[in-house]
Amino acid sequence: MAFFSNSREAITTIACPKCQKFLFIKRTCHEAHMQCSGCKTVFTLQEFIPQMDEAMEKFLEGLYANRI
Ligand SMILES: [Zn+2]
Repeated sequence: MAFFSNSREAITTIACPKCQKFLFIKRTCHEAHMQCSGCKTVFTLQEFIPQMDEAMEKFLEGLYANRI
């Protein structure tokens, strides 16, 4: 699985609650969200904060750093 250094999206190790595929973390102009790589369901970021993995953490660090 490729890890995207592009800060607009990253693949995480968090499994989709519906189909168990990995979730992507993505950002749009104003906010970040999670999207399944399998069933394409979109989830809010908040739902997965308790399960945050390294990819997600790094992505969010980059997201907030870009705003400063
Ligand atoms: Zn899914």
